[in-house]
Amino acid sequence: MILAGMTLEELENLMAELKATKFRAKQIHNWIYTKSVSTIDEMTNLSKDFREQLKSIAQVTETKIKVKQVSKDGTIKYLVEYPDGECVETVLMRFDNRANLTACVSSQVGCAVNCSFCATGKGGFKRNLTYKEIIEQVLTIQRDTGLKVTNIVFMGQGEPLLNFDNVLKALEIFNNDFQIGQRRITISTSGIIPGIKRLADMDLQSTLAISLHASNHELRKKLMPIEEKYPIDNVKQALKEYVDKTGRRITVEYILIHGFNDTQTVAKELAYFLKDLKCNINLIPYNSVIENDYKKPTGTDIMKFKYLLEHSGKKVTVRLERGADIDAACGQLRGKRG
Ligand code: SAH
Ligand code: SF4
Repeated sequence: MILAGMTLEELENLMAELKATKFRAKQIHNWIYTKSVSTIDEMTNLSKDFREQLKSIAQVTETKIKVKQVSKDGTIKYLVEYPDGECVETVLMRFDNRANLTACVSSQVGCAVNCSFCATGKGGFKRNLTYKEIIEQVLTIQRDTGLKVTNIVFMGQGEPLLNFDNVLKALEIFNNDFQIGQRRITISTSGIIPGIKRLADMDLQSTLAISLHASNHELRKKLMPIEEKYPIDNVKQALKEYVDKTGRRITVEYILIHGFNDTQTVAKELAYFLKDLKCNINLIPYNSVIENDYKKPTGTDIMKFKYLLEHSGKKVTVRLERGADIDAACGQLRGKRG
């Protein structure tokens, strides 16, 4: 039996089976999620006999670190390996002037959405992660660094809303067991409308981020095949309903690709498109990841684009590139290289 991923209630039930007190469950829970140990032997406030008893039926984790890379800017990228040999990448980002430690987690092995600019998509889809495999990524970071993760973004490999139940259950555990507030968790989607609708019906305080990347149907189609199934205007309608139901502002993510979707004409069209949507905008300069013709935007073009969007009254930020020297920046996550 694997202890990581068990809720306090599940641990209490286990303790009852072992004829141990409820308090033991609390102690074990604390060792798993706060102190983030890797073995039962490290749970030093449990008696040696009880640890032996527990070890005969359980272990903390089966997840391994296959590769770890540390960037000059402090970003750490892990290639995490699950018992079946499948791997995903997870990234820990620190921002100099803040105490926040943000984990960028994967929700699937590979991704079926296959956006033209994304390294994950190029590798195709392998399988969904279970909720335990999702939370193991954050535990792996905590065990390895001895630090507590404070923020989670579902912006690693995979499309979270195509693995809805596991993502939601992981979110619940992040919230209840890791004590990471819902407001500190962001789910990013390429625009899976049924998933957006389901989220709208739940009373979550987490942030929904939409990977828009274009200002109209034709442009978006060139980047994201999913545009055929869920066209931009329908996505916007679903987002508006989401805002109406939840009252929450969404985040629009927009990759800037030189000469493609970073022109002033597009900026104006985008400003108009987003006019009636309650949102902040996060511009992501394209990271060169794979063999294609896309290029990074110039600094001037980024500033002009930002300026035109700000004119519409929205809050616009430009995402800092993190971990570029270790291929840990957005869209560079590929998982098991083969
Ligand atoms: N599948 C989800 C979440 C994972 S991708 C989604 O697409 O939203 C997280 C973010 O990284 C998305 O906004 C995605 O568009 C962006 N991204 C992917 N490839 C990129 C690249 N080459 N350069 C910059 N950002 C990229
Ligand atoms: Fe999948 Fe997101 Fe990459 Fe698109 S950008 S292929 S949805 S992981």
